[in-house]
Amino acid sequence: MINILFAATDSRWPEYAAPLRKALDALGLHYVLSRELAPEDVDYIVYAPNSDVQDFRPYTRLKAVLNLWAGVEKVTQNPTLTVPLARMVDDEGLTQGMVEYVTGHVLRHHLGMDAHIVNPGHDWPKLTPPLASERPVTILGLGTLGVACAKALRTLGFPVTGWSRSPKQVDGVRCLHGMDQLDKALETAQILVLLLPDTPATTDLLNAERLARLPKGAMIVNPGRGPLIDDAALVAALDGGQIAHATLDVFRIEPLPQDHPFWAHPKVTVTPHIASETRAPSAARVIAENIRRGEVGEPFLHLVDRTSGY
Ligand code: NAP
Repeated sequence: MINILFAATDSRWPEYAAPLRKALDALGLHYVLSRELAPEDVDYIVYAPNSDVQDFRPYTRLKAVLNLWAGVEKVTQNPTLTVPLARMVDDEGLTQGMVEYVTGHVLRHHLGMDAHIVNPGHDWPKLTPPLASERPVTILGLGTLGVACAKALRTLGFPVTGWSRSPKQVDGVRCLHGMDQLDKALETAQILVLLLPDTPATTDLLNAERLARLPKGAMIVNPGRGPLIDDAALVAALDGGQIAHATLDVFRIEPLPQDHPFWAHPKVTVTPHIASETRAPSAARVIAENIRRGEVGEPFLHLVDRTSGY
C-alpha cells in the first residue's frame, strides 16, 4: 500500500481529491490518499509550499515530495527536506493558461488596446499599430512555459528572441543564453516577457542598468516572479518614460501591500498572481506518473536541482 499525504491548503482538497484518485487508479496503483496520515507512514507528499508541512523530519519513510506549483523557491532551501523534490511541469492546463495570459497581454500592449478602449475625450485618434512582424518580443526564460509562449507569439508573427541559462534551439526563435548575451536579448525587446524562476542568480536581474538597455518605450509583462525586477528601478524607468508600461502578475510580497506604488501607478497593470494555475485534472496525471515511477524504481520526472534553485 502506498501512503500519499495531500499537503496543500484545505481549499485545494475538494478540487484535487477526485482527479488524483482517478489518475492513480488509471495506473493501477494501490494507495491511501488522505489529508491526514501519521508522518512515519507517509511515502509521498503532494505538496504546496504554503502548506502547514514545513518540517519534513518526522516523515521518516518519505520517498519524494511532489510539488503542485511550477515555482519552488519557497521550498528549495528547506534544510529538513532531504528526499527528491519534483515540481509541476507538463501540466498542459498550466502551460495553456500561461500562453493565454502572455499572448493576451502582449497583444494588449502591441495593439495599444487601452488607447482605443479608454477614450474619454470621444476623439478619433488614428493610432494604427505596427504589424506583429514589426514588434520584436523577448522572453527571458526558455523553459516549459517560455518555449510554449515563444511558439505562440511566433505563430502570431512576432519576431521572438528567447534567453536561457543553457543553449536552446526552438524553431523560428532567436535563442540566446548566458549573462554574456543578456544585453543582446534586451536591446531589441519592444515587449519583454519574464518567465524565469526566482533563484539567487535571477534576483534583481532587471535592474536600472538593464532596464536602460531596453528600447525606449518598451513594455514589460512579468508573470515569472516578483524578485526578478528591482521595483524602485522599474518605477523610476516608468516615470522617466524609458518603460511605457508594466503588466505585473507577481510581486516580492503577495498580496501586493496596499501602500505599494505599483497600485496607483498609471503605467502599471497589477494582476493578482493569476497568470496560470495548476489545473487539477492534468496536474493529477503528472503526480500519479511520478508515484508510479517511484514505486518501480524509475527516475522521477521534473526533479528540482537544489543547487541552481529550480
Ligand atoms: P523552467 O522550465 O524551469 O524554465 C526556467 C527557464 O529559466 C529555463 O529556460 C532556464 O534556463 C531559465 N533560467 C533559470 N535561471 C536562469 C539564469 N540564471 N539565467 C538565464 N536563464 C535562466 O520553468 P517554467 O515551468 O517555464 O516556469 C517559469 C517560471 O514561471 C516558474 O519558475 C515560476 O516562477 C513562474 N510561474 C508563474 C505562474 C503564475 O501564475 N504567475 C505560474 C507558473 C509558473 P535553462 O533552460 O538553461 O535551464
